[in-house]
Amino acid sequence: MTPQGYEEFDATEIYCPRCRRAVPVRKRLLLVLSEGDKYDYTCAFCGTSVADKMDRKKDNLKIFR
Ligand SMILES: [Zn+2]
Repeated sequence: MTPQGYEEFDATEIYCPRCRRAVPVRKRLLLVLSEGDKYDYTCAFCGTSVADKMDRKKDNLKIFR
């Protein structure tokens, strides 16, 4: 089973449109796929989803917005 709901703080700060500033984000594992793991980033203050990321096994990390 996938460890759904697992959360951790990430050092990255991402711009939150609701807070209108760069904020610390919570990283949550959304999906485990054969090509990599998909993470969702939510604002640590208001909980708005600010980014998601596909953690590919080979590629560098990419943040989509
Ligand atoms: Zn926010």
